[in-house]
Amino acid sequence: MKLDALFLDTLKDIYFAERQILKALPKMTKAAQEPKLKEGFTAHREETQGQVERLQQVFEILGKRAQGKTCETIHGIIEECEELLEKAAEPSAVRDAGLIACGQAVEHYEMARYGTLIAWAGVLDKKDVVALLQANLDQEKKADTLLTQIAGSVNPAAAKVG
Ligand code: FE
Ligand code: ZN
Ligand code: FE
Ligand code: FE
Repeated sequence: MKLDALFLDTLKDIYFAERQILKALPKMTKAAQEPKLKEGFTAHREETQGQVERLQQVFEILGKRAQGKTCETIHGIIEECEELLEKAAEPSAVRDAGLIACGQAVEHYEMARYGTLIAWAGVLDKKDVVALLQANLDQEKKADTLLTQIAGSVNPAAAKVG
């Protein structure tokens, strides 16, 4: 397999994952109690819509049809999140702590994928593709940092419950 084929496969993986995340975020927003967490998930859903569009631009630049490829990883992360929402439904501070953990698992997976895709697009000499992927990566990093900040108040509240 050539590296450009592996790149395309991985692009399809993150394209699939982003669209699953788009579907999962409203559920996470609904389950969140802390207003900052709700707002963060809502804002990131909007960003995710834009990320999907950037990925479609990448497919277009490559002259390929925008097409997802089943990502078992994102299915697994979302499944664990749903499990957590059942197990840790109450109290809400603990549920929020769990939701932050879910969100950070998602962001870290995305960061791993975009980091790799950017490195490969770089060596394949696709500068416009790098710029689009970098814009997505920057948003994932920001989302992750925001979750860490929110955890700074949610985790101590969760620890006090009980
Ligand atoms: Fe994303
Ligand atoms: Zn995957
Ligand atoms: Fe994985
Ligand atoms: Fe994200």
